[in-house]
Order: sequence, then C-alpha cells, then structure tokens
Amino acid sequence: MTGSPVLFIVDASGPRRVDPRGPHLAVTDWGVTRGDGIFESISVIAGRMPALEARFARLEASARALDLAPPDRLIWTDALRMAIDAHEPVDRLAVTIVMTRGVEGGDGSPTAWLLARAARDFTRIRRSGVSVVTLDRGYASDAAEGAPWLLLGAKHLSYATNAAALREASRRGADDVIFTSTDGFALEGPTSSLIVRRSELIESPAIDAGILAGTTQATAFAFFESRGFRTRFAAIEAADLVECDAIWLVSSVRQAVAVHTLDGRGMPVDDALTADLNRWLGDEARLE
Ligand code: PLP
Repeated sequence: MTGSPVLFIVDASGPRRVDPRGPHLAVTDWGVTRGDGIFESISVIAGRMPALEARFARLEASARALDLAPPDRLIWTDALRMAIDAHEPVDRLAVTIVMTRGVEGGDGSPTAWLLARAARDFTRIRRSGVSVVTLDRGYASDAAEGAPWLLLGAKHLSYATNAAALREASRRGADDVIFTSTDGFALEGPTSSLIVRRSELIESPAIDAGILAGTTQATAFAFFESRGFRTRFAAIEAADLVECDAIWLVSSVRQAVAVHTLDGRGMPVDDALTADLNRWLGDEARLE
C-alpha cells in the first residue's frame, strides 16, 4: 500500500492542508525560476515522529547561507505531525520540506510546503550495493572558504548539476557518483555522504571541504563506534579510494549502500556489516 501524497502549505499562520494535484506555485516563484530556496528530506518509519534537531539545525544553516528567514520549528513540527497522521499508514514516508525565497515582486515572505509520500523501496539496492564513478565537481576542496556564494554545504534547491552528474554516471554504465575536488579529494555523492573503511578506522570527508553535513553519516558513525571502530573526519584522497576496505554512500531515505564497483574496479563489500548498519539506521530513524 502506498496511499496518496499529503501536502501542507506552510506560512506564518501555520500549516494548511491542500490537494497535492491542485495549482499552488506561481510561475514567478524564485524557487521555480532560479532554484532559489532550501529543502530537507525526512524519513518517517512506521508512522513514528522522527527526531528533528539535526534536520532543523541544517535547515537553519541553509537558511543562513541563503539569507532566508529562519524556519519556525514549531510550525514545521506541527506540519510534520499532521502529515504523518493524514497519510495512510505505510512502512516509510519520504517527507520533503521546501522553503523558497517567495514570489518575484511579492511581499518577501517565503513560499513553503511539506510533502509526504510513500518512500520508494530501497531494500534491494541496500543489499546489492551500487557501482560508482568518480566525477570532478570542478571546485578545489577549500572553495567554500573563499567563495561562500557557491553555497557549498547548504541544502539548496539547485540540484540540476547533481542530477546531471547522475545522468553522466548512467551514461558510463554506473549507478551513482562520488564527486572529487580539483585538488584530488573525495567529497560526497550527489544525494549522499561518503564513508570509507580502512581496517578498523572509519572516515568521512570533513564539511569544511564544502560538502553537506550528513545526518545519516552522523548516525552511521555512532553505529561504527558501537562496534568498536574508530571514526574521524579526514581529507580522503580520491586516488586512495581503491585501497579502502569498504566504501558506503549514506543518506536518509536510501540509507547505506555499499560501493561494489568504483570506476570499473571491484571493491570489497561486507554484506553482514552493511545489513547491520542499515538495521541501525532504520532503528535510529524510528527512535528519532
Ligand atoms: N550530501 C548531499 C549532497 C545530499 O543531497 C544528501 C542528501 O540529500 C546527503 C549528503 C545526505 O544527507 P542526509 O544523510 O542528511 O540525508
């Protein structure tokens, strides 16, 4: 059972449920014409309210980066609760929160909505893993420092380049991408964070490399620490990826997928560890 999508328009007076098939966006909305806005994706498992602290912290950081007004946590929490209640019961809901800069020539208030839909079933890919190509993102790993207007590390709506990278991966016969910096470091996927294993050490690139602070990455570190691994943020040379004992791409809804092939070369995969990691991520999402 998947149920129908549930949509709430959100403004200062609170969330208002509307028909998702109706017209709700002006063609002059900055979010539509420039991709000028921010978003978050939230996974809701078995209808349970997830923890929102990390989400709100990131949404607020994204709002700051784009000079948008901070989101009202109470209103968004209400909207999420109402959407969970309104949606038919499903194993997992994929919830998207969007805030744009509003309408061109308008009063400056943002356009904002929350959409809850039954999530795609990623069970198979969590087991099978993915083939990945490394693609140059065209920036040095310190680009964010000197050029904050690139909005690296903000979860903004301009994902056309990320989608283009995924299409390029598909043209090359791969499922996904690991972006690299011009100075040779591995960064993140177009919709996921990168985690690597070297023996008993688990590493992820630091966010000062201009990448998104992954909430799933943080939860995954807690899993690895509970298993006795050491974890740390580190600059990961793209050329060293092939030497790793395991590579995962992690994100909220798809969770953890192991990279079984990197630029055409087979990589070691630990099916049992990946399954345990996914169980942990599923439990965390449930508890949050
Ligand atoms: N990096 C990028 C560029 C993303 O778009 C995403 C998720 O959409 C992530 C990392 C993973 O973030 P999270 O684990 O919070 O879903």
